[in-house]
Amino acid sequence: MSSLNYSKLFRVKPGEKVNLDKVDAGFKDKHESHEHAMPEIDKYVQKLRDLQYLMYAEDKRSLLICLQGRDAAGKDGIINHILAVMNPQGCTVTGFKVPTKEELAHDFLWRYHKATPGRGQVAIFNRSHYEDVLVVRVHNLVPRTIWSKRYARINEFEKLLSENGTYILKFYLHIDAEEELKRFKQRIDDPSRHWKISEADYTERAYWDDYTTAYEKALSKCSTHYAPWFIIPSNHKWFRNLAISKIIVEKLESLHMKFPPSTVDINEIKQKYHSIIEQEKKRK
Ligand code: AMP
Ligand code: MG
Repeated sequence: MSSLNYSKLFRVKPGEKVNLDKVDAGFKDKHESHEHAMPEIDKYVQKLRDLQYLMYAEDKRSLLICLQGRDAAGKDGIINHILAVMNPQGCTVTGFKVPTKEELAHDFLWRYHKATPGRGQVAIFNRSHYEDVLVVRVHNLVPRTIWSKRYARINEFEKLLSENGTYILKFYLHIDAEEELKRFKQRIDDPSRHWKISEADYTERAYWDDYTTAYEKALSKCSTHYAPWFIIPSNHKWFRNLAISKIIVEKLESLHMKFPPSTVDINEIKQKYHSIIEQEKKRK
C-alpha cells in the first residue's frame, strides 16, 4: 500500500509560486503498472461509495469538486470513475461551455453559483469558474482590468460556499504536450470518439505556454485552506483516478460524518411489527 500522502504531496500551498514545467506529469508513485495498482484503486473507490452514502444520509454538508485541465486531460474519465460508484440521487455533474447570451448578461459567477451542491450533495464541475481567468485571460475575451479582479472574487465566492458547509476540492489534471497529442491521435483512430474532436483542440495548442502561465497564476492565487488546488500527474489515467479518489476519500474521512439517529425506537418497532409477523409465520 502507498505510504505517500497525496493530499499533502499534490496540494498547492496558499501563495505558493507554481511552476508546472517542474511537475512530472508521468509520475506514478511506486506502482509499476495499472495492474499493480488495481487493489489500491478498488479500495479507494469502495470507500468513496460508502462515504458519499454517508454524506447523503447525514444531509448536513456538501462537497464541490472542480475539474480543470487542458483538452484530453481526462476530465470525462475521472468523472466516470468517481460516479460509477456513487448514488445518482446524491450527485450532480455540470459541464461549463462557452457562455450563452443569457449567461454573459450576468456577473461571471452567476452560472456557477446555481450549480453548487445543496446539503448532502456532491457536485462535480467539468470546467468551472476558473475558465473566466483561463481561456478568458489567454484570449483577452474581456480586458485585463476585469479578469485581473476575478481571482479575489473567486476566493470570496469559495469562502462564502465553505462558510455555508460546502467543502471544496479543485483538481488540475496535469498532462504534457506529447501526451495530449497522443490522445488526440487515439481519438482519430477510434471512430466512436470522432465526435469529441474539434479543430479548436489543435489550434489551442499554439497557446500552450499562455495557458501554462494562466494555470500557474490561478493555482497560485486561488489555493486556500478552505478550497485547495491539487496538481494531479495525469499522463497515466489510472494514476490520476487513484490520486483523485484517494484525496476525496481522505477529505471525507476527516469530516467524521455520522448517520442521523433513528427517529423511532428500533427495538419497539421490532417487537411491535416483526415479532408479530414471525409468530404468524410460525402459526401457519
Ligand atoms: P469542452 O469542454 O471540450 O466541451 O469545451 C468547452 C469549451 O468551452 C472550451 O473550449 C472552454 O474553453 C470553453 N469555455 C468554458 N467556459 C468558458 C468561459 N467562461 N468563457 C469562454 N469560453 C469558455
Ligand atoms: Mg474539448
